[in-house]
Amino acid sequence: MLEIRDLVCGYGHVTALKGLSIRVEAGQLVALVGANGAGKSTTLRAISGLVPPRSGTITFEGRDITGAEPRRVLGHGIAHCPEGRRVFPQMSVAENLALGAYRRRDGAGIAADLAHVYGEFPRLAERRHQAAGTLSGGEQQMLAIGRALMSRPKLVLFDEPSLGLAPNIVERMFSVIRTICDAGTTVLLVEQNAFAALELCDHAYLLETGRIVRAGSGAALIADPHVREAYLGG
Ligand code: ATP
Repeated sequence: MLEIRDLVCGYGHVTALKGLSIRVEAGQLVALVGANGAGKSTTLRAISGLVPPRSGTITFEGRDITGAEPRRVLGHGIAHCPEGRRVFPQMSVAENLALGAYRRRDGAGIAADLAHVYGEFPRLAERRHQAAGTLSGGEQQMLAIGRALMSRPKLVLFDEPSLGLAPNIVERMFSVIRTICDAGTTVLLVEQNAFAALELCDHAYLLETGRIVRAGSGAALIADPHVREAYLGG
């Protein structure tokens, strides 16, 4: 579904990705794990069109989307759930969710998806008229996920959804992400919480300073001595 080949990109003098190649098959939950600053967020930003690639290609469903504008990427069916949630704090929960569907014109489909999001996250339904900025961190993360789903994406990019959340909420977050994938939406998940992501995923990549150094099933990476030593506390 998504194929990135030899991607190089960065910021000014910093080269964040030094020839990254990954594949995401339709229906899979793929995890991209690695330390702080390895280039995980940059990979998602490059897919979304937020960071221009210097070289390499990004193909989605056979179409070259390398360097495409963010709204075009979204139009092709790729939603980005960014790090730090980035909900609009002054706007209500309902308004934030409506924004996720801003490109859609199918009123009935939007209403059905909204009902689905509220069904999945009853806390958001209860607080639909409340300003998003007054929600707890976990609720804001649910809102960011809900907003991404409102575009009815084929592929969702999740950037550190567990960041800053209490352990019981983190567990719920990962189970929601698995449910999203099982319902037919392909997922590319970036996580610093390597163990949880590797347990959850169908396929995983380990990124170190801008390059993929390991690839395989989550179980294979969990069993890998280098991964165990460097990322799973032995
Ligand atoms: P983190 O979990 O800390 O976000 P990451 O694996 O997502 O880590 P990136 O955010 O992709 O890493 O960063 C990769 C490299 O690019 C790092 O060296 C980082 O300092 C640098 N970088 C990221 N964003 C910028 C920016 N806006 N300007 C300059 N350098 C940046």
